[in-house]
Amino acid sequence: MRLVIAQVKHETNTFSPVPTPLARFAHGAPLPLEGPAVRDAYKGTGTALGAFIDLAEQAGAEAVYPVAGNAAPSAPVEDEAYEAMAGRIVAAVAKGCDAVLLDLHGAMVTRSFDDGEGELLARIRRIAPSVPIGVALDMHTNLFPAMGQHATVIAGYQTYPHVDMYETGVRAATPILKSSRPTMAFGHRPMLPHVMRQSSLDSPNREIQARAKEMERQGALAASFFVGFPHADIPYAGSSAVVVTDGDARKARSLCDELLDMAWNARKQFVYEVEPLEKSLLRAKEMGGSKAGGPVMLLDHYDNCASCGTMDTMAVLGGILDAGLADVAAFAVFDPRAVEQMQRAGVGARVTIPLGGNLEMPALGLKGKPRQVTGNVRRIIGGIYRNEGPMARGELADMGAAAVLDTGKVEIAVISRHVEPHDIASFRALGIDPAGKRYVMLKSRVHWRAGLGPMARAVVECAGEGVCTSDYSQLQFRRVRRPVYPLDPDTRPTA
Ligand SMILES: [Zn+2]
Repeated sequence: MRLVIAQVKHETNTFSPVPTPLARFAHGAPLPLEGPAVRDAYKGTGTALGAFIDLAEQAGAEAVYPVAGNAAPSAPVEDEAYEAMAGRIVAAVAKGCDAVLLDLHGAMVTRSFDDGEGELLARIRRIAPSVPIGVALDMHTNLFPAMGQHATVIAGYQTYPHVDMYETGVRAATPILKSSRPTMAFGHRPMLPHVMRQSSLDSPNREIQARAKEMERQGALAASFFVGFPHADIPYAGSSAVVVTDGDARKARSLCDELLDMAWNARKQFVYEVEPLEKSLLRAKEMGGSKAGGPVMLLDHYDNCASCGTMDTMAVLGGILDAGLADVAAFAVFDPRAVEQMQRAGVGARVTIPLGGNLEMPALGLKGKPRQVTGNVRRIIGGIYRNEGPMARGELADMGAAAVLDTGKVEIAVISRHVEPHDIASFRALGIDPAGKRYVMLKSRVHWRAGLGPMARAVVECAGEGVCTSDYSQLQFRRVRRPVYPLDPDTRPTA
């Protein structure tokens, strides 16, 4: 058996100004990996690609690896980048194979295509009309019909934070490799669940994902509910579901509709109310009297990397500095220029530099607003580290050249590649112990809970500025299909 195994992962925020060239898909190398280097890098990792490698080897299959690319979320993918990766996969399939296993995100918009994944699958189908294609997807998939029509099996993460990437790979590949008769149903409900309300650790998604898992225990080959990614102004942004059964189309349809109905009936619980920043910081200050029980987490949720934030808006960090909060670790401000300035000054130097605010956000009509910060350069590193897990365990991560700027009250991580702080290793690499702090500021919404959740005493959600704004009224939706809840409160489920 010959398998084509590949990874192309990108979540696209169409409001983000952060560009997405091919190099963004690589970690610790100038370009995405290909060939045996993919196996060497991903064997043993807690990723869908890691699962595909294991299953291929267990099946005694010959596997070829045309590409493994995983970019931090950002603006639509440049055409050259997309064509380079899609071209490698299609060329590998064209040489002949018995099955294709793909580790995709499911919300990739390119400069030319709203549905990067559907376009890739359509191209594979044109040259291999009947080859089985198993696809692992992120829970933030925005499912276009082409994905459901061209894939043989789709399995999505059932956890957010995403700590079941490996298991999802197993669920996507097993029906393909075990020669069952996968039969798939997919569908949508017209709703945009709010990212701040999507965690599978909380209601209502906890119950929906539990039901999907139960369906699999009861015989479905794969059952997935996708919360969708709302910061994408494309027709199929929003929630969807896919259920795969062994040859029973009617069952697949009814289980898929059941997941969608659960989500629709809970739509009001998926709406998030924003608290003004001043109020949040006042609450934080009141909570900071004692260190007992661990740090208070301050979430800069308008500017998190995993939702394609620039990671360089200074509203929340500036508020923390102005409020005089002390014993704070902050991860992270994306500012390659500031890192260079600190490198030139050297460890131990005292510097006053403009920090953040380099990127303009035209989709929101916002200019970048740097802030002068004075502090000591505590540490300078290269920035490559390995995730300890539980999310993407063992995968290489790259924050680029990075430094710690210590104001005396706040230790600020300054980085030159975007990474979400979901892993303790991102702090360890910089010599910061977040568990010992009074406060930890994170440019994260939900993923931080994977690696840092257990240390948190309390959480304060801080509304700052950025292209992952939690206030949908700041975004100009022009192309998402309407009506859609909650933009249109009277939306009907069949819309
Ligand atoms: Zn996701």
